[in-house]
Amino acid sequence: MKFPKTIILVLSLVTVLSVTAQNKSQVIAHRGYWNTKSSSQNSLKALEKAHEINVYGSEFDVHLTADNVLVVYHDDRIDGRRVQDLNYADLTKMRLLNGEKMPTLEAYLKKSKKLNGLKLIFELKSHATPERNREAARKSVEMIEKMGLGERTEYITFNLDAGKEFIRISPHTPVFYLNGELAPAELKELGFAGLDYHVNVMRKNPEWFEACKALGLKTNVWTVNEPDAIKEMADYGADFITTDTPEVALDVVK
Ligand code: MG
Repeated sequence: MKFPKTIILVLSLVTVLSVTAQNKSQVIAHRGYWNTKSSSQNSLKALEKAHEINVYGSEFDVHLTADNVLVVYHDDRIDGRRVQDLNYADLTKMRLLNGEKMPTLEAYLKKSKKLNGLKLIFELKSHATPERNREAARKSVEMIEKMGLGERTEYITFNLDAGKEFIRISPHTPVFYLNGELAPAELKELGFAGLDYHVNVMRKNPEWFEACKALGLKTNVWTVNEPDAIKEMADYGADFITTDTPEVALDVVK
């Protein structure tokens, strides 16, 4: 059978376009889309704004307080005291820069439930001991499952004890490692879905992009804010770009 040339041309074009679409880097708003009016880092507003601009996912940071409440907040300390050493009651008066209360993870996930399609890039912060890291991971998974958000969640962490615990108790949820020292083959061996490394780590090890692809691992790079750097990482084939400038990134990768 002989196909007319035009049909062959159209079919090849469709193939090229679909491969290109698959390979396009996805954008993740770092601490939500906070770099905009009435928003602030890790606020409910930042989560909502990330959803509004249609990014792949929104990243946020989680600590377990001394009395075992999971809260969404970035910094380790408030007024010199470690968040993880405080009880939740000590945190309720604290206000974010946009005036919101510091959200509990539960409040944050309740809001997320209404924002269909947005992936939750859940960073569990490092805690004081290996056991506390594992406990924080278990409580995080419990809460995600209780809220029915397992399908929309990806865990990321600098802490290897927490990472291994996520992989053990939630084997179907992608877990990414942030700390930068493990090579793709080591991550694969441990069961990670991929790496989520600083842009300078990836510049030093650009062969890791291809190595990850070959191993079926994903690559995420943080925190990439300038258009040139976003393009550089997109050209390497980064699966995800985590950024404080998500609108710029969406424009660069489109
Ligand atoms: Mg983070």
